[in-house]
Amino acid sequence: MSTAVVVGSGPNGLAAAVHLARSGVDVQVLEAADEIGGGTRSGELTVPGLVHDHCSAFHPMGAGSPYLQTLGLEEYGLRWKWPEVDCAHPLDDGEAALLHRSLETTAVGLGADGARWRRMFADLSSGFDALAADLMRPVLNVPRHPLRLAAFGPRALLPAVVSARWFRTPKARALFGGIAAHAYHRLDRPATSAVGLMITAAGHRYGWPVAEGGSAAITRALAAQLAEHGGKIHTGVRVRCAADIPPADVVLLDVAPVGALGILGEAVPSRIVKSYRKFRHAPAAFKVDFAVEGPIPWNDPAVGRAGTVHLGGDFDEIARAERDVACGRMPQRPFVLLGQQYVADPSRSRDGVNPVYAYAHVPAGYPGDATAAVVAQIERFAPGFRERVVATTVATTADLQRDNPNQVGGDIIGGANAGVQVVFRPRISLDPYRIGVPGVFLCSASTPPGAGAHGMCGYNAAESALRHLRDIGRG
Ligand SMILES: Cc1cc2nc3c(=O)[nH]c(=O)nc-3n(C[C@H](O)[C@H](O)[C@H](O)COP(=O)(O)OP(=O)(O)OC[C@H]3O[C@@H](n4cnc5c(N)ncnc54)[C@H](O)[C@@H]3O)c2cc1C
Repeated sequence: MSTAVVVGSGPNGLAAAVHLARSGVDVQVLEAADEIGGGTRSGELTVPGLVHDHCSAFHPMGAGSPYLQTLGLEEYGLRWKWPEVDCAHPLDDGEAALLHRSLETTAVGLGADGARWRRMFADLSSGFDALAADLMRPVLNVPRHPLRLAAFGPRALLPAVVSARWFRTPKARALFGGIAAHAYHRLDRPATSAVGLMITAAGHRYGWPVAEGGSAAITRALAAQLAEHGGKIHTGVRVRCAADIPPADVVLLDVAPVGALGILGEAVPSRIVKSYRKFRHAPAAFKVDFAVEGPIPWNDPAVGRAGTVHLGGDFDEIARAERDVACGRMPQRPFVLLGQQYVADPSRSRDGVNPVYAYAHVPAGYPGDATAAVVAQIERFAPGFRERVVATTVATTADLQRDNPNQVGGDIIGGANAGVQVVFRPRISLDPYRIGVPGVFLCSASTPPGAGAHGMCGYNAAESALRHLRDIGRG
């Protein structure tokens, strides 16, 4: 029987481990933390009984993941729960733009821009599965759906500021801008439309669901599947160098490129060391979890029905804030993503107190405290919020990196969506999972298709490892 070691138990590490184990490989997972899951963990971060997500919260790409969908994770306890409104984007005039799973309902709500929203997203959402099959693997592959990809490519490559001009109303422009801001990059840069288009299309196809009981349910379901196929997980094992890795036919590293260089040292060929050193990390997150008495007093009550709330004002304000953050300046009004997971999953609340999750986009390694800026953005659209807060827990950029070394400088997306890194990460290669050390592969979100709890980086890397095992006669 061939053997594998996976270093790191984030969704990509676990997806890689499950794929290898289901293919008949004897798999061990080594996790530095005392708890498995990396970016898909949940816990009582504020007061007892309230369940908060540490990192990933909303899962359009998880529910729509070509690999996770094959695993039947529902049989292992995973239940997706959908809020009535996927995403709300309140504006200063007191109204909010709403993204619904239904394209039609969204279009109707956007009034004068409804027809334009329909034209922008109708084909993308009905053809999402075909597109995802091509976009969620390395781009230098023969496409399975070349016509769809050819139609998507030129639109995806546009800066989000150009795509936003398609809309006439502040509501539609802001709604698109808030979603495009998930690219974590300046919205006037090429390819920043890609993330906005894909996450919106995934939302119209699958919604933006949360995992019942917390995102850790995704981790538990993957771990249960791994155990069923004989895989073992060891926690509290930080791999610092190659000698810490037990002998195995293949090794998969669910770590950042800089982490891989630290572990493998001089074994990595110099051309790959050079490209990994050039790998750019994204700006950071500053996370604040709140325990809140009752619902948030939004100016527009419709916002209270949304899972995700984007707080950043109109499109131009978001674009300015994202530019500042990318340039290393802390904006006075940062873009804030707020999560009301309890709207879809009331089991996370206790005795009328709700867990509220929020993070601001801040410069990489930002050393300051952004709590006041986060609270001010919420108060702007929900006056009186402050009085309802009964507990607050903060994670600075340094805390995020301490908690998980993959979050370099507080980067929560495994590397910047800048320049060629949008598609070629961590380097330009037909097989970007190979590290140049025979039998060793990178499987983290720093590889294609990038950030998100979809497990596709792990699955693709495991496919590469299985090819290697066949090549050496161990497959
Ligand atoms: C605040 C926040 C909000 C997010 N929101 C969303 C969201 O709503 N939806 C979504 O889809 N995604 C979201 N994400 C992104 C998502 O969580 C990540 O893209 C995803 O977790 C990446 O998975 P991964 O397996 O590549 O790495 P990680 O999840 O980072 O896991 C890596 C694991 O490897 C371990 N490790 C690292 N180095 C070593 C070592 N040397 N030895 C042993 N173990 C090691 C770490 O401890 C960690 O457990 C969010 C992330 C954050 C932080």
